[in-house]
Amino acid sequence: QAKKTGRGRVCFYSSDMQTVLQSRMELEADMRVSIHREDFFLVYQPQVDANGRIIGAEALLRWQHPQRGVVSPGEFIPVAESSGLIQPLGRWVLKTACSQLHAWSKDSTTEALTLSVNVSAWQFRSDDFVASIEAVLHLTGARPERLKIELTESMLIDDLDDAIDKITALKDIGVQVALDDFGTGYSSLAYLKRLPLAQLKIDQSFVADILTNSVAGAIARTIIGLGHSLEVDVIAEGVETEAQKDWLAAAGCLAYQGYLFGRPDSADALLRQLSDDSAGETDYPSVG
Ligand code: C2E
Ligand code: MG
Ligand code: MG
Ligand code: MG
Repeated sequence: QAKKTGRGRVCFYSSDMQTVLQSRMELEADMRVSIHREDFFLVYQPQVDANGRIIGAEALLRWQHPQRGVVSPGEFIPVAESSGLIQPLGRWVLKTACSQLHAWSKDSTTEALTLSVNVSAWQFRSDDFVASIEAVLHLTGARPERLKIELTESMLIDDLDDAIDKITALKDIGVQVALDDFGTGYSSLAYLKRLPLAQLKIDQSFVADILTNSVAGAIARTIIGLGHSLEVDVIAEGVETEAQKDWLAAAGCLAYQGYLFGRPDSADALLRQLSDDSAGETDYPSVG
């Protein structure tokens, strides 16, 4: 077992690790074929305001694997990153998301929606990252103001100056940047002040525990306060219960995303939810 080998010792791969490696290689080979066949699709999860009204969505990638069914990004994004396949895949995500955004701009019920798109460290680090976003906006006709790029803290620390340059360049063309999974990485007030961010996303691990764990609650409160003092929007991820939402609202967090308000689903499903809402039928009470 790898666990039992001491520090600095050469470790022979166990048959378990062999299996892991093999399935990684299979996944990579399958992914090559699937990128070519476009076996990927995006699902959209609603983001709501304090009244439960849908203000935007996050695009989340899914893989319709020919044999294994739908595979979630937690499984294949790491493989895509280590193999370099994240490059074509990331381009496909941006293009597809921006096409959707453009389609939304043509209808009065959807024109105000923002769309958040996750990018990987690899994509963000590339020299032509900002240019590639500009190109996709141009190609699809999507409005930059409606696009939100989600980064994580760990992407910023290797080269903070480069990150500041890129986020500033995005802001200059009107594109917003959100910090995803906020609170789980290395946060420093000093660097946050230097980044022209539009949004902090409170990580779902804190939201899950706010009612039961005072440390999680304190962290969530701190992030909300930070947002206020930096004048950056704050949204809570992974909101699953009314009680969590009420706690967050009382603490001053006024935007939410989570199963309570809708699971990631097709663009059509989001449209249906929007038209139900505009008919005045929300299935949760609004905040008074
Ligand atoms: P994330 O960006 O933090 O996305 C939020 C994840 O939480 C999503 O998982 C979503 O389905 C899940 N979620 C939303 N509401 C709830 C809730 O109320 N409870 C719980 N337990 N979970 C909830 P998903 O779709 O499996 O995505 C996982 C991660 O994969 C994402 O985390 C993101 O880091 C990455 N990812 C997804 N799509 C893309 C993409 O297009 N490109 C890249 N680079 N990464 C992506
Ligand atoms: Mg995200
Ligand atoms: Mg997140
Ligand atoms: Mg996450």
